[in-house]
Amino acid sequence: MSVLRGDVVVVGAGPAGLGAALETSRLGLRTVVIDERPAIGGRVPAQGAGLSGGPSGAAWLAGVRAQVEAGATRFVLGRSVWSVSPAWRVLTAPVDPTADVDPWEIEARALVLATGATEQPIPLPGWTLPGVVTAGAAQTLLRVHHVLVGSRVALVGVNATSLELARDLAAAGAEVVGIVEGSPWPTGTADARTDPASLVADAGTLGIAVHAGGRAERVVRLGGALGLSISSGRADAPEQTWEVDAVVLCGRTVPLTDAAQLAGCPVAFVPERGAFVPLHGPSQETPVPGLFVAGAVAGIDGRDAALAQGRLAGLAGARLLGAAARDIEATLRHAHAALDEAVAAGEAREPGGIAVQARLASLWQAQAIGRAGT
Ligand SMILES: Cc1cc2nc3c(=O)[nH]c(=O)nc-3n(C[C@H](O)[C@H](O)[C@H](O)COP(=O)(O)OP(=O)(O)OC[C@H]3O[C@@H](n4cnc5c(N)ncnc54)[C@H](O)[C@@H]3O)c2cc1C
Repeated sequence: MSVLRGDVVVVGAGPAGLGAALETSRLGLRTVVIDERPAIGGRVPAQGAGLSGGPSGAAWLAGVRAQVEAGATRFVLGRSVWSVSPAWRVLTAPVDPTADVDPWEIEARALVLATGATEQPIPLPGWTLPGVVTAGAAQTLLRVHHVLVGSRVALVGVNATSLELARDLAAAGAEVVGIVEGSPWPTGTADARTDPASLVADAGTLGIAVHAGGRAERVVRLGGALGLSISSGRADAPEQTWEVDAVVLCGRTVPLTDAAQLAGCPVAFVPERGAFVPLHGPSQETPVPGLFVAGAVAGIDGRDAALAQGRLAGLAGARLLGAAARDIEATLRHAHAALDEAVAAGEAREPGGIAVQARLASLWQAQAIGRAGT
């Protein structure tokens, strides 16, 4: 097994991991970033411009990429991290099992976990049929591979992502049959962080049909096509079936905390996020010395917030390792302000970030008091 040594190892090359690497390599620390994807950017390359405009994911990433490539960060791509142990030892394996390469071990003095969030599919009957995909998969097909997921598409779950996707699919030539607001199955799409009424109004202005109050009951095969059965929730109204060739499940996301838990970081349930989040402080530090979490894994959505949290984690890690920099405190203050600004701006796309941030701060305070009392 080959061993690679650095000062800081970052897992995840999305906005948060890139933000961390920007700061640590700028401060002269040997930084290794690992990602199982073949290219940097995490989820961002698959994203379009938001509903209210703004840069596409590719345009957003171009600016960050130029800064990262100017530094001395070493990227290890196409490798999954499958083990993490304190102080710090990270084991990786190639994603392609046929690749004839050594497994690599990476050792470093600090670890930043920027593993992102995972999409929760909506487990309605028929969800495993070919042609049923998550929003992220449909986005990646469209923007990264330039392939339409189908020519007649239905979406389940009304949220900012499904509206953006419906608009982008239609612009690329797909017939968007409609979006169904909910499902009797645990979708999470009706979570407190979205405002269905305003989203349905947004859909109207985009010319997308929303089956408000309707429920996606099941997906069935219809010859070579798929049928999405929808009920109105009323006993007197018959079910209707949309004939489509793809169904996109637009559920919510939950932080991908496995690596943080392996590293010994406690997680806490955050009701405002509806998920478990690794405990962390204002500069993304965790109760485990030398371990930092940043980005979607730390419970906050949005690429600008992830970048700012990554920068905070990188700076706090560099400070812990004694990196000499006159501007480190000022840069930390600047990154804190950028994070607050990004979370506030993110409310327009995905409401709830401010409440999640407040809850996380109080959980951190409670555990700090608990630790002081033991
Ligand atoms: C469908 C969808 C649409 C979205 N649209 C928008 C939008 O329009 N605007 C916006 O601001 N935000 C959007 N978001 C949210 C935004 O994508 C995230 O908040 C942002 O990408 C978080 O950045 P991150 O770096 O924390 O995680 P990610 O971008 O998810 O990056 C995490 C990286 O970690 C890697 N990784 C994870 N585990 C391992 C492992 N064990 N080994 C190796 N690598 C690993 C992954 O491969 C990934 O590249 C969207 C999210 C989704 C799901």
